[in-house]
Amino acid sequence: MHAGPSDLVDLLECEHRSYLARAGRDGDSRELREAAARTAADLRAGADLIENATFFDGVFHCTAQTLVRTPSGYEPCDEVPEATPLAVLSLTAAAQALGSERAHLIVDGRRTSFRAADFTPLLNRLKARLAQPPPAPKRSWGDVRAACNGCRFARHCAAGREEARDLSLVAGLRADQRRKLVSVGIDTIDALAATEERPATLSHASFAALTAQARLQVQQERTGVTTYEVVAPEALQHLPEPAEDDVFLEVEGDTFRTPGWEGTFPEFVDRTPTGTVYHFTPHDLVARAARTATRESEVDELVRRCVDLGALTRRALRVSTREYTLQALKPLLRDENPTRGVRDLLQRIKREHGVETAVKEERDEAALEKAAERARRMAALTEPLMAEGHTLFAATVGYHRRESSPAWGDFFRQASAPISDLETDSNCAVPITLKAEDWVPPSGRVRTHKRQVHARIDPERPHPFGKDEQVRLLYPGNVTRNAVVADDNPYELVLTESTSQEHGELPVAVLPGSPVPAAPKDEAVAELAEQAVHLLPLLPRNPGIDLLLRTPPGQLPQHPDVVQAVIKAVDQLDGGTLAVQGPPGAGKTYLATKLVRHLIDQGKTVAVTSTSHKAVENVLSSVDPDIPMAKRPKGKPEEDLPWDQPKDNGALARWREEHPQGHLVGGTAWTFANAVIKAQPFDVMIIDEAGQFALADAVAVATAARNLVLLGDPQQLPQVVQGVHPPGSDASALGHLLGDADVIPEHLGYFLAETRRMHPAVCKPVSELSYAGLLHSHETACHRGIEGIEPGIYLREVDHRHNITSSTEEADAVVDTVRRIVGRTWTDNGRTRELTDADVLVVAPYNLQVRVIRRRLADAGFDETRVGTVDRFQGQEAPAVIMSMTSSSTVDLPRGLDFLLSRNRLNVALSRAQALAVMICSPRLLDADVRGVEQMRLVAGMLGLLEQVKKFPV
Ligand code: SF4
Repeated sequence: MHAGPSDLVDLLECEHRSYLARAGRDGDSRELREAAARTAADLRAGADLIENATFFDGVFHCTAQTLVRTPSGYEPCDEVPEATPLAVLSLTAAAQALGSERAHLIVDGRRTSFRAADFTPLLNRLKARLAQPPPAPKRSWGDVRAACNGCRFARHCAAGREEARDLSLVAGLRADQRRKLVSVGIDTIDALAATEERPATLSHASFAALTAQARLQVQQERTGVTTYEVVAPEALQHLPEPAEDDVFLEVEGDTFRTPGWEGTFPEFVDRTPTGTVYHFTPHDLVARAARTATRESEVDELVRRCVDLGALTRRALRVSTREYTLQALKPLLRDENPTRGVRDLLQRIKREHGVETAVKEERDEAALEKAAERARRMAALTEPLMAEGHTLFAATVGYHRRESSPAWGDFFRQASAPISDLETDSNCAVPITLKAEDWVPPSGRVRTHKRQVHARIDPERPHPFGKDEQVRLLYPGNVTRNAVVADDNPYELVLTESTSQEHGELPVAVLPGSPVPAAPKDEAVAELAEQAVHLLPLLPRNPGIDLLLRTPPGQLPQHPDVVQAVIKAVDQLDGGTLAVQGPPGAGKTYLATKLVRHLIDQGKTVAVTSTSHKAVENVLSSVDPDIPMAKRPKGKPEEDLPWDQPKDNGALARWREEHPQGHLVGGTAWTFANAVIKAQPFDVMIIDEAGQFALADAVAVATAARNLVLLGDPQQLPQVVQGVHPPGSDASALGHLLGDADVIPEHLGYFLAETRRMHPAVCKPVSELSYAGLLHSHETACHRGIEGIEPGIYLREVDHRHNITSSTEEADAVVDTVRRIVGRTWTDNGRTRELTDADVLVVAPYNLQVRVIRRRLADAGFDETRVGTVDRFQGQEAPAVIMSMTSSSTVDLPRGLDFLLSRNRLNVALSRAQALAVMICSPRLLDADVRGVEQMRLVAGMLGLLEQVKKFPV
């Protein structure tokens, strides 16, 4: 039987679909053979362009709309409405059949090209799986998953689930909740409706909500009547009183609809609706505005007047329908326009329950005028920049506002969101159980009542909070109170709550604290834009502008010693930007200390900034302590630091005046964007970790410098971005210079191409994964190794199922691997010693797995082995690294496939190894439930890596 690209996509997204699609297919392949023969003849004839090409190897077939002849051979090209997995796999297959390196997609008239090799490992794996007969499934239907949406077998599977009374019939039930219920034998909606027994891993709130939902649905099935229960009437305080100018909005794709009107997103905004905008499904107005960098201020204002009726309904009511959609709610509505109908229904319930409308904080005239003034100022900056083609500069002007606006939006939304929404919000935690200690009354200098709250957490939904973090506790009735994390582990959060008045309530959720304001970073960028607008079409001389424009720093000196070359290049800088990409072990810190020493000896003023206080202090700690240096402390000043700690920016500025000769100042972007500090620009500003430092922050700090040096590596841990931004403006400073490339282009800076850490056998796969094969091992790294185990990266497969954030099977394999390493002889350039458990570093993706591994290692007597998540180990190294991938499969991953298989994370984990890296992984980790082209790229990257590794000898 033959198969094609759509069979690959079926296999990629859902094994069950793959089985259904292939069952009973006829095997006639005559037409395919004839079409393939015609294409072969066209290829032999050598035309410049071949249309409707078909390839068929007797089993697998694929097509390409056009084959374009290039100097290196034919390349396939398809014009498609969007870049889907089918389009990409189909072209990759055609490229493979042709032996071409590149393939091209035309979407919306724009051509994008990709390297076939980026997807070939996945293509090969899927083809190999297709070649095996599909396993006969136990049931005729599959479990609900993202791929069901739009699946051609959706009805078939829905009917199967219906007949089986499957739990997925319960509205709002998530896959992880289903799994927990099934594990204790509750596998039908009827069983859930009847049960009183809560699975220990399900929170009280979820269990109560799900059983009540199941009962209500079962009742509707019996009576045929749609009903509802009011569960949180107080949520309706956020429903405004009806008004004449109310707008009822429905959004379908790019079409915006209100009663009697239809148009696009910009047309809707330009109609400037004045009243409350009611909508039932999310409309992501802010993201739409941000992506196009248009009408952002108008949308900000509009969003304040939007009311999400869908969220309010889910929060206030429990309805007897299977889905909470407008269509399902229709039997409860009295209006022809269902959105208005839901608003009226909620209004009625609000009145019946005597709920008062919450007084919406009216922004006073002065605040409104300030907002309007800010919008006018932004437009006055961005519009002329855009008109001159400086779209990236214009996008940078609004970056900080866009970046903080989702955080502020979330800050307010989370306080009134349904608990089910908070459970799936990875920034929040909904504890399974809670208990509080007694209040400690105010005494001495403590003016508030304090108590500790112990929150038990579902370890399969990891909480995001760390010790000492400011959080908010959410209480019933949308009340929030501040707290601090006193202690945390994957199972429990201990929170210290402080309040002016004791109370006897327990919180229901833990929410993040308030976002950090962007000022004065945004102001620094705006000031630079202002200078630019005055000069247009010219631009002011500023290293931040060079960075935005990717202006090369001039002819770059070459020297056998790259440190000397960089120092010479910095000396030559005359108001420009130089980039240095430093892969793991390539001597980035060494270079920074040499560069600082050199500059200070020349009497230069040097600033060092980075992504955090800690990162800045790491650089200050590594330079010669006799250099005059200063940095404002994060909190209270610490003792015994080799640098001065002025208490504020004024004191820091005075310190600089007192040290007129060469000096070094450390600080975060907030320090260097401050007007007092940037009044005296530094000769050189070094941005360390520039692969994680936002481009807009770099532009902000560049206003305090004459020259900019970017040090870092965008191929290691990625930059964290929260907002939606126009393309390109969400990059890191160094990532922006690299663009799509894996290494810095030669004319923009230096690539530190030699690692002193990794043995060539470890370095080569890492280099191919992340550095286009350009990273090599230094001579000194070649002569090291572990007795009896060849250096390199190994795979150790461990079969396990249903593990998500922890796997005892993998933890046992970690212990066994450590045992096989400890006691062997370590040779490093002629010196030998015996390896101990301290020579092994273990990386796991989730804190829970870190704990499980730590415990098992301790039980086995390996207390010295370092175990942690990858973020903890940047900069560290060890003779051997073990990596536990933990999850059994990609289904249900709490932080997504993108997190688990991130190329950056793999790079950081593997590149800690001096001689040996062992990846421990389930053989099913890379099968099924892969969605979208970017996920395909990740899986293919991991498969490509696995093709190069050896099996670990066990
Ligand atoms: S409906 Fe869902 S479970 Fe059924 S075949 Fe399609 S994707 Fe798979």
